[in-house]
Amino acid sequence: MSAARTITTAVSALIGALSLGSAAAAQDAAPPSLDVTLKPHTTDQAVDYVHVQLKVQAPVAKPGEAFLKLPMVFASVETARYRATDIKVTDQAGPVALIQKDDPVDPSNFMYFRRWEVTRPTVGDVTVSYRAPARAYRPKLGSGPPFDLRPEAGGLNGAGVSFLALPDKSTPYSIHLKWDLAAMPSGSHGAWSLGEGEVRTVGPVDLLAHSYYMAGPISSYPSPGGGPFGIYWLGEPPFDAQAVAVWTQKAHTAIAGFFGEPDKPYRVFFRKNPYPGAGGAGLVNSFMSGFSDTPAPTADSMRGHLAHEIVHNWTGSLSGPNGIVSWYGEGMAEYYDPVLTWRAGLITTDEFLADVNQRAQSYYGNAMNTAPASEIAAKFWSDTRVRKLPYDRGSFYLSTVDAEIRAKSGGQRKLDDLTFAMLDRQKRGLSYDTDAWLELVTAELGPKAKFEFDEMMAGELIVPPSNAFGPCFKRETVSYRNFELGFDSASLTSNPRQVQGLVAGSAAEKAGVRDGDEITTAVVLDAIQGDAKAELTIDLKRDGKPLAITYLPRGKTVEGYRWARVASVPDAACAI
Ligand SMILES: [Zn+2]
Repeated sequence: MSAARTITTAVSALIGALSLGSAAAAQDAAPPSLDVTLKPHTTDQAVDYVHVQLKVQAPVAKPGEAFLKLPMVFASVETARYRATDIKVTDQAGPVALIQKDDPVDPSNFMYFRRWEVTRPTVGDVTVSYRAPARAYRPKLGSGPPFDLRPEAGGLNGAGVSFLALPDKSTPYSIHLKWDLAAMPSGSHGAWSLGEGEVRTVGPVDLLAHSYYMAGPISSYPSPGGGPFGIYWLGEPPFDAQAVAVWTQKAHTAIAGFFGEPDKPYRVFFRKNPYPGAGGAGLVNSFMSGFSDTPAPTADSMRGHLAHEIVHNWTGSLSGPNGIVSWYGEGMAEYYDPVLTWRAGLITTDEFLADVNQRAQSYYGNAMNTAPASEIAAKFWSDTRVRKLPYDRGSFYLSTVDAEIRAKSGGQRKLDDLTFAMLDRQKRGLSYDTDAWLELVTAELGPKAKFEFDEMMAGELIVPPSNAFGPCFKRETVSYRNFELGFDSASLTSNPRQVQGLVAGSAAEKAGVRDGDEITTAVVLDAIQGDAKAELTIDLKRDGKPLAITYLPRGKTVEGYRWARVASVPDAACAI
């Protein structure tokens, strides 16, 4: 689910800014109150809109200044886009008419705002109300982040950023969120990224915008909630959601405990897309995983995906250009997801080894595996092989560093010590970037640390030492067939989506794919890349007729590595 990971990175800067806002809020004696009531409305047992009411304490809004704001688009998802007349504003003197103004369109389609101004000064407290339509927004590229407000299984879910027009201020409020679920089935309840049911907190309005909402006949774990951790879903997912939830809570406990913050709140939401294509994203203290029936996720795939996301809470992206620094955030999440769940006994030694070898297959069987970091950002969206590099390469680099530190210190120190030092720097507001990492790793390993880092960034193939994954595994040489889509992968995200650059002699060509074929459904390649036996089925349209073509997307045979179990060492001595 790489789309999920991508968006997580994209919004991480916003979330970082938010925590600072909260800290500043603590020093403010009495921030103004902002009461938010969400009242879903149903027609034929499906939510068709949510009545949103805000009570803003004495905002002193004036003509010529923005009073409310809502993005027109956020990370490519179109929002509710209210017109000025859709929003009712009243104060002590009666109704207040609004006018709307749009910021310049963001050509990258990431984010730009619509803002509303009052047409006369407001007097005293102000009530704002509007209807947020609940409807699934279908992403143009097949996959997208799960931000749109939509109905599902008698309830609703979405991110505030897609439907909450909020005061256009960055200063903190005393926020009070309430649900009015009178129109929902009995037993319904509401959950927000920051808590279940009625929630009071202090912070900027971005807490309301950059967070998830779910209400209706929700299933949840643990139930009853109230603790720092919760998982929520509506309807019947195609995987065993209860089992995934039980495992994920244990993983959260293990990972949060490792990073020294066992009580840090975290909530996970599942929802099913009414179209093929998945996409998840992290927002404040939370993650929403959007899945589809085609292909349906398995409990195993959900587990690894969620553990990766949980690790991100403590191994945020370094400051620096996208692509250049992504080896750290994604490499750390990929490194610690299996290591910490294995140490906690949540995956078996065999499952840990399978994870290492899936990464080895993905990395060594990747024809782009020597692309330098400087090329990652430009090709991130159009070439899944490049998109996977920060994950695979970053993780193998960190495994190499770990093995070298353990060897040099006689087992006294390991990667964990550097990870904690980086986290400490981030918490103390010190520089949290490539230079900070190089300083720490050079202190452990000497000047060769910088040399090895530069090699990784330049695209030199990384081969972790034989014992990099502990005494129970040893490195072997193996042949891989390179992952090869067989045509230009930019075809998958171009508009129109048409096969271009078909490779003569490729498996795709032999199976019957032709230049100019229209690609009609989402094509998800990341998992296939790490599985040598996985066939790819691609839905096409040619001369107006649909056709599905299946082939093994593999090309040239190359030499690579995998790890094998050392039978003489018992399981109990394995963990690193
Ligand atoms: Zn990630």
